[in-house]
Amino acid sequence: MEQTIELSPKVARFLQGNKKLFINGQWVESVSGKTFETKNPATNEVLANVYEAGKEEVNRAVEAAREAFDNGPWSKINASDRSRLIYKLADLMEKNAEELAQLDTLDNGKPIKETRYVDIPTAIEHFRYFAGWSTKVVGQTIPVRGNFFNYTRHEPVGVVGQIIPWNFPLLMAAWKLGAALATGCTVVLKPAEQTPLSVIYLAELIQEAGFPDGVVNIVQGFGATTGEALITHEKVNKIAFTGSTNVGKHIMRRAADTVKRVTLELGGKSPNIILPDANLSRAIPGSLMGIMFNQGQVCCAGSRLFIQKKVYDNVLSDLVSYAKRIKLGPGMDSDTQMGPLVSEKQQSEVMSYIHKGQEEGAEMLTGGNEPFDRGYFVEPTIFSAVDDNMTIAREEIFGPVVAAMPFEDLDEVIKRANDTAYGLAAGLWTENLRNAHYVASKLQAGTVWVNCYNVLDAASPFGGFKQSGSGREMGSYALDNYTEVKSVFINL
Ligand code: NAD
Repeated sequence: MEQTIELSPKVARFLQGNKKLFINGQWVESVSGKTFETKNPATNEVLANVYEAGKEEVNRAVEAAREAFDNGPWSKINASDRSRLIYKLADLMEKNAEELAQLDTLDNGKPIKETRYVDIPTAIEHFRYFAGWSTKVVGQTIPVRGNFFNYTRHEPVGVVGQIIPWNFPLLMAAWKLGAALATGCTVVLKPAEQTPLSVIYLAELIQEAGFPDGVVNIVQGFGATTGEALITHEKVNKIAFTGSTNVGKHIMRRAADTVKRVTLELGGKSPNIILPDANLSRAIPGSLMGIMFNQGQVCCAGSRLFIQKKVYDNVLSDLVSYAKRIKLGPGMDSDTQMGPLVSEKQQSEVMSYIHKGQEEGAEMLTGGNEPFDRGYFVEPTIFSAVDDNMTIAREEIFGPVVAAMPFEDLDEVIKRANDTAYGLAAGLWTENLRNAHYVASKLQAGTVWVNCYNVLDAASPFGGFKQSGSGREMGSYALDNYTEVKSVFINL
């Protein structure tokens, strides 16, 4: 398993030495001196040691963000200058796109093709999209009773604690930072402990772009320590979290003590439905990508595949032959189509779901193995004859495992698709316009894809119904989650 991509000299330099915390515009070590390792999941090798932020460092970061927001430069900078800085950051990211792509591939394991052509360009696009919004956050004038002039102001919510997962390390940071900076908030961001590197590199670019000290602070560390210090800090106005539903619930409870604003992007068990009138030559590879993209570590993965009985056998046999052709390997190999899972823990969790599927009587048509001696790889796995009540049909696996189930008619599949605690996304494949609109209106999901899957755009909202979250990222909707509305009455 040789790496075919040459390591960028800038990345090689970046990986030397312990990676510091970025607080108040300074690169600092933690007071305790504690570090943790971040590993390459394709080789199990340590990539770098990273300082861990404890309570004290989180407190310093929050104080710096508070000062920059309350008294410091950020609150005094006008919206067009904020916009200019965000555009400048996007330009610097473009100049460093190869380095950012390599760091995400090394740290997360995902194929370099994806980080080069999906993750990094999309992250840059997000910053540009939100840079444009900075100057367009406007209130209303409202005709009220009596002799008063009434208007609203949309003001930044304040200091925001942002906590992100490891599956799209840089992109998740971009989703969170774009809207916060555009609206004038200041930020303390905690990357996932498994994949902190691209966000630390981003902080160097934030510094180079000229953002004032304290506007963005990066605190690496674990959920139970660094994350907990952030979500319980009384000077944080809002927590924006992407991660598992269990941690999301915990954050909501903790946030209640100080009535923090909370937005949550959580887990999913998304249904993907193939109707008999679908164009199968598009539906089959599209559905496979809908589950296998990013090694299945996608919150909106189409992990429950409902196939109408008439086409069930044909779809499954093609799906299996496509899955067998997916080339697994290290992300730094330019031919790789599927990399390793992010960690040993993730690999063993996914393998335990595969074993559970077999124990509960589902039929494994392909996959189910850890194919290499090193690295956290799991083969693309397809289960058929899955019952709605089996564990693999109910719980989020977050790996390359799909549960296929036959159905008879439209209303039956809608009911079964909605029979889940989650509601993040759903897919539908049909050439019939009425079916498309009817099913889209009935599915309980924040995003419905018809004849496509995993399509996202900075301009379009993303978020979950039910236990998949609350609030929306992206589009103009994200701005509402980073602003408070103030109503002003002037007595005329
Ligand atoms: P996770 O919830 O374990 O961790 C996510 C982040 O939360 C990490 O940075 C972690 O350190 C932090 N964290 C953990 N415990 C914490 C605590 N007590 N206080 C504060 N922070 C804490 O999730 P994960 O396993 O890293 O990521 C996978 C999950 O994320 C999946 O459930 C997936 O569906 C979800 N996800 C959702 C979206 C979305 O947009 N809805 C996107 C990506 C991932």
